Amino acid sequence: MTNSSLTGRWQGTLMDNYGTPRLPLVRGAGATVWDAEGNAYLDLVGGIAVNALGHAHPAVVEAVTRQISRLGHVSNLFIAEPPVELAERLVALAGRPGRVLFVNSGAEAVEAAFKIGRRTGRTHNVAAVGGFHGRTMGALALTGQPAKQEPFRPLPGEVTHVPFGDADALRAAVTGRTAAVFLEPIQGENGVVVPPPGYLAAAREITRAAGALLVLDEVQTGVGRTGHWFAHQADGIEPDVVTLAKGLGGGLPIGATLAFGPAADLLTPGQHGTTFGGNPVVCAAALAVLDTIEADGLLDRVKRTGERLRSGIEALADPLVERVRGAGLLIGIVLTEPLAPQVQQAAQDAGLLVNAAVPGTVRLAPPLVLGDHEVETFLRELPGVLETVRRSRRPGE
Ligand code: PMP
Repeated sequence: MTNSSLTGRWQGTLMDNYGTPRLPLVRGAGATVWDAEGNAYLDLVGGIAVNALGHAHPAVVEAVTRQISRLGHVSNLFIAEPPVELAERLVALAGRPGRVLFVNSGAEAVEAAFKIGRRTGRTHNVAAVGGFHGRTMGALALTGQPAKQEPFRPLPGEVTHVPFGDADALRAAVTGRTAAVFLEPIQGENGVVVPPPGYLAAAREITRAAGALLVLDEVQTGVGRTGHWFAHQADGIEPDVVTLAKGLGGGLPIGATLAFGPAADLLTPGQHGTTFGGNPVVCAAALAVLDTIEADGLLDRVKRTGERLRSGIEALADPLVERVRGAGLLIGIVLTEPLAPQVQQAAQDAGLLVNAAVPGTVRLAPPLVLGDHEVETFLRELPGVLETVRRSRRPGE
């Protein structure tokens, strides 16, 4: 099968998420993927922060193969070892008592958090402008991006969106009627927007004072992405609810809603559930991810490679780069002009996969196992990519 035949076929049969061209890929190993013509690409997108251990990591392959050969699925009528062990591990990593609900995606993890909030007896939620929490109806109501919401109004619940990073605005919006405040520790889809220091701690204090839940959406930032198991651990705060997905399954679909303290008891039996949530095979994959992060010292490694990438990009002093922001291996290259889609295309042409999160920012979310030599390859190739974009843009564009 050739690339071109795949391109023609998907456009006729798959509903299109983004309306942009898609590169057909056939194989991956580590941080490299190949197309059908055998062209290799250095993958700094990582399935949008999903392929934590890169592609075809032996630990994930082994865990999945072993589990599916033994017991592939049991439903929630029964219980198997992997989801129990995974829940125990996640709660231990959070470092305090809690309970876990397994689902199949980030949006579903947020939906469960939405329902936990409802069980406080309150219906008002607060979320951040520019935030992204998923595309199902509840998650979309929380997503602070009007263009994604408009076609689907009315959306469930009463949600106040406040500017991200502004503690005073948050304080003014949260009242005794507020069920929960939903925040990303770093806004990923919005272009890797990092709040000022102390913002999450202020959110913790504000929600506690109002008797509202603090829900941190760590779907993108969790599971080692920022060099911590959970990004909020860098702030030393204790949210009531944490949502995870993406990197947790190392490429397999899984989401998790972690609830701590009294929030862990708000959903009672019969109030929520899903057929596939806690599937033993995806939980076995997730356990392999956690084991490997631990065994290979990937949290420290992510801090180091992230720092090298950030400082390396800054040191290029390219006129198209305004600044670089992020934490660990979630990096936003903020451009001086809204040319991120062009940078994405030029990078792809040069054998590098990056993501135009928003027009003004290029996002990097590579596998956590990204090697030093791969970082240097990227830093060597990037100036040529940026120069291509600068040269090809038309005057006044
Ligand atoms: N929350 C955050 C912070 C996300 O980044 C995403 C996905 N980009 C989601 C929720 C939704 O996850 P999913 O696409 O798996 O539904």
